[in-house]
Amino acid sequence: MARLELDQVSKQYGDFHAVRGVTLDVADGEFLVLLGPSGCGKTTTLRMIAGFIEPTGGAIRLGGQDVTQLPPWKRNAGLVFQSYALFPHLTVNQNVAFGLEMRKVPSAEIAPRTAEALRLVQLEHLGDRLPRQLSGGQQQRVALARALVFHPDVLLLDEPLSNLDAKLRQEVRLEIRELQRKLGLTTVMVTHDQEEALTMADRLVVMSEGEVRQVGTQRDLYERPSDRFVAGFVGRSSFLEGHVEAPGLFRTAGGLALGCDGQGGGQGGGQGSLALRPERISISPAPLTELDTTLEGTVEFVSYLGALIDIHVRISPEERVVAQIANRAGGFMPDIGNRVHVGWSSADARVFPGRAPTS
Ligand code: ATP
Repeated sequence: MARLELDQVSKQYGDFHAVRGVTLDVADGEFLVLLGPSGCGKTTTLRMIAGFIEPTGGAIRLGGQDVTQLPPWKRNAGLVFQSYALFPHLTVNQNVAFGLEMRKVPSAEIAPRTAEALRLVQLEHLGDRLPRQLSGGQQQRVALARALVFHPDVLLLDEPLSNLDAKLRQEVRLEIRELQRKLGLTTVMVTHDQEEALTMADRLVVMSEGEVRQVGTQRDLYERPSDRFVAGFVGRSSFLEGHVEAPGLFRTAGGLALGCDGQGGGQGGGQGSLALRPERISISPAPLTELDTTLEGTVEFVSYLGALIDIHVRISPEERVVAQIANRAGGFMPDIGNRVHVGWSSADARVFPGRAPTS
């Protein structure tokens, strides 16, 4: 267990910057998740922490020690990959013991440490099986035991659950999180699955094009996204393009005058995007006069998600917002083609400078 620090860590392949100046401070026992679209540099960052990829710049410290130049086997990092990477011809016990043997751990310690690691992942009864005699979830737990058997300073998880089906993913997610807490293990996980990231992390790092865009708790990222990219990537937002005409007043490209958060997006002039979270948009058959903004529109599409319903409302020939409502007995439920009113509080309408992402 240890604190992990990345200081301006970069990786360049020729002219291409896969990772640019990433600085992170992971507290002892913290569970940090790297999140971002495909190709943003998550795996490269994790592999630099593990020692499989040499950074072209910056420093990595583990427990205060500079490990930037150390090979992987001298870093005491436990690794779990998407492909479990178990040896098919070795039993579960032998798979877990293998790394200890390679590290020349005294033979008297190997059996008890292997048993302890398998107990942690609740597989002590399956030590004599071969990997092919196990389910996907069990194989992933063997991979976890193999990482834990070293008593690592840091646990590195690279998309560890993506080979499991949806139900099993949820179970293993909780198992990993509980175990990580119990052992107080400093952990960094890479995933592109938002739900997984949001349920498992103490803090998240959102990356894009090799750079860190924002580091924070789930709430920080959702309520106070640092930029348009984060607002579009973490959770959903409807983006309307236009400009801030006056503090608290946004003029869309389609000519609508909308209330917006007076704090963000500057004091007027420049091009910007107004971002609205779907659950912060109210929808009603009558004008929403109690809200700062109320306008009429036509329902274009209704997406029934079970407990929640998405309602796509056209508010001008060029502009549309998506409101999300709870599916309550007797609640208002508009149909495609209905005229409705949508509204929001200005504090829930954030303005980000520049153009909205095309998505
Ligand atoms: P994914 O979610 O798809 O795994 P990622 O965020 O983990 O994506 P990385 O694997 O870290 O992305 O890759 C970051 C960028 O670096 C990508 O554009 C990738 O093509 C590039 N890259 C990775 N390895 C090399 C390499 N050996 N040579 C050149 N470019 C590379």
